[in-house]
Amino acid sequence: MRAVLCLVTVADGAAASGVADEVSLQALAAASALASGGAVHALVIGEGGASAAADLGAWGATQVHVATHLALTSFAPDAWARILADLADTLGVAAVVGPGSDAGNTVLARVAARLDLPFAANCTAVVPGDTVVVTRARWGGSLLEEAAINAPRAILTTQPHSIAKTSTGGSAAVVTFAPTLDDADLAVRVVGHVEAAKGGVSLAEAKIVVSGGRGVGSTDGFAPIEELAGLLGAAVGCSRAVTISGWRPHTDQVGQTGTKIAPDLYIACGISGATQHMAGVKGAKTILAINKDHEAPIMTGADYAVIGDLATVVPAISAAIRARRTG
Ligand SMILES: Cc1cc2nc3c(=O)[nH]c(=O)nc-3n(C[C@H](O)[C@H](O)[C@H](O)COP(=O)(O)OP(=O)(O)OC[C@H]3O[C@@H](n4cnc5c(N)ncnc54)[C@H](O)[C@@H]3O)c2cc1C
Repeated sequence: MRAVLCLVTVADGAAASGVADEVSLQALAAASALASGGAVHALVIGEGGASAAADLGAWGATQVHVATHLALTSFAPDAWARILADLADTLGVAAVVGPGSDAGNTVLARVAARLDLPFAANCTAVVPGDTVVVTRARWGGSLLEEAAINAPRAILTTQPHSIAKTSTGGSAAVVTFAPTLDDADLAVRVVGHVEAAKGGVSLAEAKIVVSGGRGVGSTDGFAPIEELAGLLGAAVGCSRAVTISGWRPHTDQVGQTGTKIAPDLYIACGISGATQHMAGVKGAKTILAINKDHEAPIMTGADYAVIGDLATVVPAISAAIRARRTG
């Protein structure tokens, strides 16, 4: 039994939404496993943290700490790292865990630097013990490495969608505190958001994702993809070839340097299936590839494939869905 501290972030990056994101609940499951019956402390930071805190007992936290500070109205990685590192010291925890999201990895790397300890990012499994053993995804997920963290305190993040969140049905005491911060901690912070022009389905948590690659050809070429996504209640994703071409924003990119997703169905249209793209869809339950090249690498990872021109195939699927709904 050992105490463990877990950073919990809030859905959609806006702390005010007050709902813990899925990847944090998965990190909390890893924290519970590492604690082996010991205390599982969760930390939520900033505006809206208190409302997210109330539910965390049901997902394994035994105590929730809510850090509130006038300056914590937006994401500030150094400030978050200081709060997490200071709380880890105060609580004397054996491990600090966070979600392997961009924000989680950014903060936990800073925590490790502050504490002068090693950092294991993107763990897919954890084994508790005096020396914590982890399996972690390397090289965009093409290599799984087993590593022992030889350190007095394990600092790690969990690879999104590789460890299942665990409902314990418990409840947690919630403690609010005001952290000590100075100007240097706030030098890096989010000062504005540019909202992505899309509907309410979040790419990271969508059950269905319809994605387009270079084969789509242009910004306008995404109209049939958006139409199909709309019919399926899906999110639209894309490959890096698309974001580099400026056809879609980076927030839509799926892959190693984009969003890692775990939908029930991933429809990849005109995407070759490069390793760096597939690193983002390892959690997908079913992959349908639409590609005019039957030898495209994505065929080896796809469950189903339609060999053909997406400009014909995608509208045909939409038409079939419409016909079935009205017929
Ligand atoms: C460090 C690093 C990180 C990276 N991170 C990412 C990442 O996060 N995400 C990512 O996606 N990539 C990433 N990449 C880039 C990656 O290596 C590939 O270059 C990229 O994924 C290719 O995108 P694509 O499949 O759309 O394009 P291409 O590889 O050019 O494939 C286009 C496909 O479309 C098909 N096609 C063309 N026309 C049609 C048509 N009319 N109908 C049907 N099919 C058609 C072709 O047969 C082909 O298979 C990264 C690369 C590096 C080096």
